This record gives sequence, C-alpha cells and structure tokens, in this order.
Amino acid sequence: MRAIRYQGPNRFAIVDRPASYPGAGEARIEVISAGMCGTDVRIFTGEHAAYTDNPERVPGHEIVGRLAELGPGAAPPGAGPGDLVFVAPNIGCGVCAHCSAGRENLCARADALGITLDGGFADEVIVPARAVASGNLIRLPDSADPAASTLIEPLACVLRGQEKVGLAAGDSALVTGAGPVGLLHIALAVHRGATQVICSEPSPARRAAARRAGATAVIDPGDGDLAAAARTLTDGAGPDVVITAAPVHALQAAALHAAAAGGRVLLFAGLPRSAPTVELDTNQIHYKELTVAGTTASSLEDCRRAAQLVTELGPMFSWMISDALPLAEAERAIALVRRSSAVKVILEPARQLTREGGSRE
Ligand SMILES: [Zn+2]
Ligand SMILES: [Zn+2]
Repeated sequence: MRAIRYQGPNRFAIVDRPASYPGAGEARIEVISAGMCGTDVRIFTGEHAAYTDNPERVPGHEIVGRLAELGPGAAPPGAGPGDLVFVAPNIGCGVCAHCSAGRENLCARADALGITLDGGFADEVIVPARAVASGNLIRLPDSADPAASTLIEPLACVLRGQEKVGLAAGDSALVTGAGPVGLLHIALAVHRGATQVICSEPSPARRAAARRAGATAVIDPGDGDLAAAARTLTDGAGPDVVITAAPVHALQAAALHAAAAGGRVLLFAGLPRSAPTVELDTNQIHYKELTVAGTTASSLEDCRRAAQLVTELGPMFSWMISDALPLAEAERAIALVRRSSAVKVILEPARQLTREGGSRE
C-alpha cells in the first residue's frame, strides 16, 4: 500500500509500506477521498506544532472511505464492514471533563488522525480502537458523494462556530474570507436563514465562488474601509454576526468595527503561531455590547450533524470540490491549496495519474 509521508519541511514523499491489519478493536478503512486544507499546508511547510520534531507521519484528517475490515472485538456503533464512512478525526481521551461533556475537541490528551496519528493521505488507514468504540466511524448512505463528503470535517468546525454565536434566521452576517472554510460559512449561514450574507475577499475568483455559495453581496477589502462598507450594506447598522474566515490580523480588528450594536463576532480563523497578537479597539466590545467568541476544530456530535447536512444537501457542497488528484501529486495539491483559484482540493488514492491533473470543472 502507498502513503504520503511528511519527511521534514516542504517534503511529502510517496512511500510503499506493508499492508496493515487491524488489531483488537481497530478498523481498517480503504480511503476513497481525503480533503486537503490549510492545516496540511502548515504541516507541509513545517509550521504545525504536532510536526515540529519532524516525525515521519502520514497527514490527512478529512477522510472518507470504505470500512474494509474490523479487528477482533471491534464493534463500531452504526457502521459495519462494507459501509461508506466518514472518519471523524479527533479522538478524545474519553474520560476527562471535556470529553464527558461532548467537547472532545478541547481534550488535553486528544489524538487526531493526520495530526498526531497516521491519517488519510494513503490507500488505507487504521482507526484506533478508542475511536472505533466512540463512534468516530460515521456511516454515509451509498448514494453520498465521497468527494463532497470530505467537507464534513471542515463543515463540522463551521457548524460549531455558527452555533457558538447563535447564527439564526433573520440575522445579517459578514464572512471575511472566501477560501473553502469561508464558503462553507456562507452556505451554512444561508441555509440557517440569514437574510443577508456579505462576504469580503480580495481574490476575484473567490468572490465569484462566494456568490455561488449564496453571498448576497461581496466586497473587495482593497477598495477601502471594510467595516464601513459592511455597515453601508446593512442600512448603517452593521451585520448581526461577523465571522473571520481568513488568518489575517486586520480582519479581527475590522470585525469589531463592522459588527452591529449587540452583535456577535466569531474569531474562527486562527492566526500564525509566530504572530498571534492584534491591537483591538476594545471599546467596540464595551460600548456596542458585543459578544466575541472563538471555536476550534469540532466534536463528534458536530461531525454527525455535518454528515447529515452534506448527505441531505449534497449539491450545495459538491461544486466546492474543484480538484481531485492522485496521491503521487500531493505536493502539487499543496500548491493548488495555496493558490486562490482552487476551491477545495482532495486526494483520491485510487485515482490514476492524469496529464491535466484531475480538475473537476
Ligand atoms: Zn482540515
Ligand atoms: Zn478527554
């Protein structure tokens, strides 16, 4: 079997490794599609905290595949051999206060496939017993599009964020950034009944994608004061909900200025570990009674709900998969993720090398 292995900064090597068999309680998944995201770019460049000691590990945490084999005693709730499954990547310890409350994403002893454990940029992945027993294998109907289903992982994070700030029908929203995660925020906000969804994004290609995702207005932040533009579009009031979906410092400051009085701000995109501080006008929070929140990753329950959304609303998401590449082109996939013309890039281990490289549209 083949896998992509991180071998130090800026090196993803394709390696052959012996076939693996699931041990007690484990499951073997034959990977069909594995999404690539900004986290994988940070892993590739050597900036990810879990990869700083240069482990030879297989990335890939947005995994969809076929449940091929169960180890002795493995009994995944709701899934069986042959099923198409999404593999929720975060594996909490199962016993701490956060895990007990369903916040596996905050568990201090959590593991994650593709982050601290070998992940899905491979023909197959072995899912640990703890994850199999906890329900991390989420069964999808056979009719589900495996490519679009890789979006379950980022959508689960997006869903968690919008729940945290209570984005609901009748709200106006501003999403800053229209990369894959920004597009998911736009599509989900529309689905939840937001009356107005404004998107700010410097790339014309991504602004067009934002429109396709359902944005009612798009702004080029290069055109001037982003907060003022968002207020103008909301009759001077400002959006009820502002979501930062790009790792840009200035967007966090602008979010506070843009939000309506009584509004909610979600700092969704993290900032680079090397430069995490921003100067903020906190009077905006005080005098406008803003609620400022953050969320990180997703819980198992978020993944289950996101799986249901992607299954029910397939076409709302499937167009976002712009490029599907074979494992051997992982480094080219990274380059595509970094280019703003691609929407969502995935790897498909069974895909053969193609000259033009598997662009889906
Ligand atoms: Zn991701
Ligand atoms: Zn825990």
